This record gives sequence, C-alpha cells and structure tokens, in this order.
Amino acid sequence: MFITMIASECAPVAKVGGLGDVVYGLSRELEIRGNAVEIILPKYDCMRYDHIWDLQVTHPDLWVPWLNYHVRCTVWFGFVHGRKCFFIEPHSHDNFFNRGSYYGFVDEHMRFAFFTKAALEFLLQSGKRPDIIHTHDWQTALAPVMLYDLYQHGGMEKARVCHTIHNFKHQGIAGENVLWFTGLGRPEYYFHKDRLGDDFNPSAINYMKGAVVYANFVTTVSPRHAWEVRHTDWGYGLGHTLHLHQEKFGGVLNGLDYDMWNPGNDPYIDTPYEAGDYAGKQANKQALRKKLWLREEETGETKRPLVAYVGRLDAQKGVHLIKHAIRYTLARGGQFVLLGSSPEMGINAEFWQLKHELNDDPNCHLEIGYDEELAHMIYAGADMLVVPSMFEPCGLTQMIALRYGSLPVVRAVGGLADTVFDYEQSELPREQRNGFVFHETHEPALESALGRAIDLWYEKPAAFRELIANGMAYDYSWNQPGQHYLDIYQHIQA
Ligand code: ADP
Repeated sequence: MFITMIASECAPVAKVGGLGDVVYGLSRELEIRGNAVEIILPKYDCMRYDHIWDLQVTHPDLWVPWLNYHVRCTVWFGFVHGRKCFFIEPHSHDNFFNRGSYYGFVDEHMRFAFFTKAALEFLLQSGKRPDIIHTHDWQTALAPVMLYDLYQHGGMEKARVCHTIHNFKHQGIAGENVLWFTGLGRPEYYFHKDRLGDDFNPSAINYMKGAVVYANFVTTVSPRHAWEVRHTDWGYGLGHTLHLHQEKFGGVLNGLDYDMWNPGNDPYIDTPYEAGDYAGKQANKQALRKKLWLREEETGETKRPLVAYVGRLDAQKGVHLIKHAIRYTLARGGQFVLLGSSPEMGINAEFWQLKHELNDDPNCHLEIGYDEELAHMIYAGADMLVVPSMFEPCGLTQMIALRYGSLPVVRAVGGLADTVFDYEQSELPREQRNGFVFHETHEPALESALGRAIDLWYEKPAAFRELIANGMAYDYSWNQPGQHYLDIYQHIQA
C-alpha cells in the first residue's frame, strides 16, 4: 500500500508533543511491514534541521490556488531518521511557517488550511496517487473535505482518508473566509450542521467536525478515550457528530517507537540498561542528579526516591496536581524533577514562580523549556513518573516510563487507564500490574497513589523492583497498533 501522512508534526524534526511521536512511529512501523510511506509537513524555520538528511529541493514551483491568486511554494525532500519527508515552503507575505515556533498565532486556522491545501495540490501536481491519506488533528482535518469536494474528480479518485484525532480540545474553528481562500466556497452548504457547521457558534465552521463527516475512517488514540468522547464532555461538543458516524469511528491505542525509546541503546542516557539491570538504572539516576545539581547520595545518608514529570504544562495535564506532586514528594523526603513548558504565559509564570521559591532546595529541579535529550535522561533516571491529567487521549509519557523502568503514577483517564494497572487495586493478575492509579481530580487522590508508591519504594524495595520488571515486560510498541491501522486502511480501501 502507498500511504501519505499529512501532519503538522513529526518527531524528532518538528515535535511539540505526542502527535509528532505518533506520525514518526506509525510511519516507521508501516514501512517495516512493507508499505510505502511518505510524510508531508510544513517547512518551519524552527525545525530541528540536524535531524534531516539529504535535504534538497524536489519541486521548486508548486503553485497553490489561494483565494483568487496562486502562492508559489518550494517543496523540499529529506530523510528524517529513514522516513521520507516532504516539506512545503510557501513564498508569500503571510510568512506562514517562518515565525520561530510551531503554533500559537492569530491566523492559525489560515496557516494550516493553506498547508493542507498545498499538500493535496502537491499530490495532484506531482502525480502521486496514494491509496491512503492519513491526516492528524485539526490542523489537517480539512484534507478529506477538500479531497472529496475539490480533488477527487481531478485525478485523485483512489485515495481514501483515515483521520486521527489526538486531542479533541482544539478543533479548528474559523469563519467563512477560509472557505473562500481554500476554494471550497459555498458557505450555505458547508455551514450546514450536518457538514462543517459548528454546533455552538453559528457563524463558524469546525475543521475537525469536517474530518469526522468526510473521512472514511476516524480514530482517536485509545479505546477508553473513544468511549469518553462519545459519552462524556471530553468530546468537546463533537459527541453527537461522532455518534452519527459511529460505524466509522474507533480507538486505536498509540504505540511507542521502541527504536527511538530504547534504554538498552539510547544515545542520550549515561548508562544503557535492560530489564533487571538495577545497577544500570541506578547509574542513570546518579547521572541525572549530577546534571541537574541535585543532592547526591553519600554513604550513610537516607536514600531518596526520585519522582519526575515530563510534559506540556497545560490545564489538560492537571497543573494543580503537578504542583502538589512536587510539594508532596519533597515533604516525603524525595527528589523531584520537572521538564515542561507552556505556550500560555500565565502557566509558565506560575512555574517560574515555583522554581524561584524552590531554587535553594537541593532535592528539586524544575526545567522550564523543551529539551528532547534531557527528557530521555529523566525517563532513565527517575524512580517514578507522575501523570495526573484531567483528560488524556492516550499519553505517551507513561508508556515511555514503563519502557525505562520508571513507575507510572497516573490518573485513570483515557489512555492512562488503558495502559497502567494499579499495584493493589487492579483486577489483573499480580504479574500484569505495573504502576499506581488514582481517580479523582483533587490533591488527596494524587497523594493516596503517590504516597503508596513512595511507601513501597522506601519499605519494600524488592516489591518495587518486581513492579518495575512487570512494566518493562509490557509490549507497547507499534507492533499491534500498526497492524490495527493496516486493517483499517484495508477496510476503507476503494
Ligand atoms: P501530548 O501529546 O498531550 O503533549 P503525550 O504524553 O502524548 O502528550 O506526548 C508527549 C511527548 O512529548 C513525549 O514524547 C514527551 O517526552 C514529549 N515532551 C513533552 N514535553 C516535553 C519537554 N518539555 N521536553 C522534552 N520532551 C517533551
């Protein structure tokens, strides 16, 4: 099969969160299984160009129709750790992708509508005829709409679209002008509630709703979340539309790229280690302490568990619980490392404030920013990783933690509930339990789970290690989900 991914992120070259990991990891798995995969991305100025090999111009003049004129784009090609990637660079005064960061601009809906249109135009003009176009999140959600209403009859009859929703919170809400710019036009047609008309704002279209209506199949990133978005508020208003299209909607748990995330062969960590090698794990803990100027253990000193958080600092991630985890861990004599950043000034400021408050504490380090290499060191060096999300479509950090032998302490939502099973309360057999889980969103709930994890670390180190071994034995690679996506592609193929 020939599969084209159209996405706004791909790890590690253009990654903000899990979406980037998924685009890379799924593409790799599909290729391993004998399919041809190409990825189309915007050419951002802020990409990690050091992760692209042989970058060169392949199509110097891609003219993309836009409103009543054409925008000239240059299409580049390069390999990102073996993946074949095309990068679209528009030349217009809008300067859509030369802004120093990936997201967060007032014309966001125009930037990605343009990119989506340019990607389809590229397929059309270059003669590429994928069997499957796989699009991701709101940024590329207009692709199935444009494909079926503008491109299908121009020579792209064969392509079928699978759309994956990684986060329902951001749906791409825009006004009528997008329809004119993209050439879709016909506002009275698209504003209909059965098509793109937003259910809350009568003067807006909703890109993601468009994908749910037009795509041949729609997935979200865990079975539990697929249920939540239809039956609770976590669908952010799309529950009804999903219900209408339920026969083409399902949850596929994300995989983890076991090559990129492999403690046995990770270039960013101090000491590679396998399951059962506790000395190796310990060496990484010491290396992390050294790097972040945390107090190191001296002979005779009480040992301290190291608890970590890695991820975006966003209301979704349970900001109040992250903060509480820091204070609670320190009060229990542990050490805490946080790596995260937020595009929201307010949340960033809160964490900078906390960082200043805790500046003199030798048991705590808050790193506010994005740092891929440090993230690897933290997963390898931590004893536990907290993921106290309010909602979590899948969550990759808990899976990375399991792979690196760091015990996940998570709230039972979405993909977290599908992947982490409580040491004491799970109904699974003992050898399949792999972490600690809590349910409510208040601080005592987090304390109960983190407290139990810390107790186990202090009081029953052998049981703690056994739990880690259980976690490392799980297979959360792309092996199963890769096959699942292939089944979906086959199911929708023309
Ligand atoms: P989301 O997609 O909601 O951001 P996920 O748990 O699905 O959350 O994926 C997060 C991914 O991004 C993981 O690979 C994690 O290691 C990475 N990540 C998040 N924040 C940072 C950061 N500040 N520095 C380095 N890596 C980060």
